[in-house]
Amino acid sequence: MKNTFTKIVCTLGPATSSEKMIKSLAKAGANVFRLNFSHGDYERHAENFQIIRQMSREQKSPYGILCDLQGPKLRVGKFKKDKVRLIPGQKFRMDMSEKLGDETRVSLMHPEIFKALKQNMSLLLNDGQIQLNVDDFGPDYVNTTVEVGGILSNHKGVNVPDVILPISALTSKDLKDLDFALKLGADWICLSFVQKPEDVKMARDIIGDKAGIIVKIEKPSALQYLKEIIELADGVMVARGDLGVECPIETVPAIQKRIIETCRAAGKPVIVATQMLESMILSPVPTRAEVSDVATAVYDGADAVMLSAETAMGEYPIKAVSMMKKIITKTSQDIHYINDMEKSTMPPDKTVASAITSAIRQMIKVLDKPACIVSYSVSGKTTLRTARERPLLPIISMTTTEAIANRMALVWGVRSVVVPTLEDLTDVIPVAVNYVKEAGYAKPDDEIIITAGIPFATHGNTNLIHIAKVG
Ligand code: ATP
Ligand code: MG
Ligand code: MG
Repeated sequence: MKNTFTKIVCTLGPATSSEKMIKSLAKAGANVFRLNFSHGDYERHAENFQIIRQMSREQKSPYGILCDLQGPKLRVGKFKKDKVRLIPGQKFRMDMSEKLGDETRVSLMHPEIFKALKQNMSLLLNDGQIQLNVDDFGPDYVNTTVEVGGILSNHKGVNVPDVILPISALTSKDLKDLDFALKLGADWICLSFVQKPEDVKMARDIIGDKAGIIVKIEKPSALQYLKEIIELADGVMVARGDLGVECPIETVPAIQKRIIETCRAAGKPVIVATQMLESMILSPVPTRAEVSDVATAVYDGADAVMLSAETAMGEYPIKAVSMMKKIITKTSQDIHYINDMEKSTMPPDKTVASAITSAIRQMIKVLDKPACIVSYSVSGKTTLRTARERPLLPIISMTTTEAIANRMALVWGVRSVVVPTLEDLTDVIPVAVNYVKEAGYAKPDDEIIITAGIPFATHGNTNLIHIAKVG
């Protein structure tokens, strides 16, 4: 625990929607839970939300909650038996009828799609795993032949490659879901299919600072404006599911590296997502390639790795989290990781906070027994800045609100603790020393590095660094 830095995000779904399962996921290593508003219903999401919050309070340990909005994604409707198997060569129809689907048809309630169709074009379903060829179509239906078959279940996505559909970045469903998520008190909101900086601005107008905004990068156009989009957001997800359909699949690894690098330079948390341990949906052991994939994200310095269907609907959700945790732990101890993190210094920008956080690295090298870093940060900004340097010590974020503590659960190396508002700067030191001792981050004789600001407790004002010896 002490020397792992990369966080784990788990998607909740039918396999894990209970107090018992959520607690087991947390025990196995989950730091953040994701509620995907493309699936499930409000009642379930709200129940899961309360279970997580209650658990945080009981354990005095913050867990983050991330609410993922569907965005302008096309999805099929539901099936009578929740799923069907499509066989190559068979006919399959999608239409605007609301009837539940079967082996021959399913509803697709998106009139825009039918307007954009052309004969013989391909439609890709379920992150591109199923491929249909368009035979003929009308304003409210399409008849297809299955080219690549597979299992198709409720609400799976449909991609029409190379076609730009005229749908707003926040659909009417998203606005409703967003309102619901903000009322629940989500820590992070994920925006799907962001294409341009304006999409983030539009969401920011509604969200303000009530939650952090995570942009999901899954469209080629988002890559064109990557820096600007990241600048406007609070965090990023490398959403490899749709990314691998929208861009040539072989370009995904390079894109992943580029996004992680850009986020790290900007000091914004970045999540690597989709198919990380995909085979564990049905198998208790992952493939070697999957293990390597998780490790690669850790080596690259991602803030978090994510599980989707593995924990939402898989047969081995707890095993998947434990496996991820084991990979993270082992990779974090590897000399290549240690060297990579030490080498990858980020150039400081010309701010006081940046001067302070980049000095921390030097201090760690010089000090005799540095045990951890404590950042007293009301807004969490200095905590993020500290994590940007990837110092290989726990970063304790002492903050005064639960909201910021929960949000920081996503960030590389950060452990948050909520403390009462302190009256005076001199109070910070004993509070920090006592806490790290009690929580086991330091023992007598260790040194801890504390950052804070004067005038005291004003936002975004870190300008002090203090080294305390634990007594
Ligand atoms: P996205 O593009 O946002 O990732 P997705 O359809 O790929 O959407 P994931 O969150 O990646 O969804 O989860 C993988 C699968 O797990 C889903 O396709 C769905 O079948 C199932 N799932 C996820 N969350 C739920 C839920 N709350 N209720 C039911 N099924 C769910
Ligand atoms: Mg997905
Ligand atoms: Mg997606």
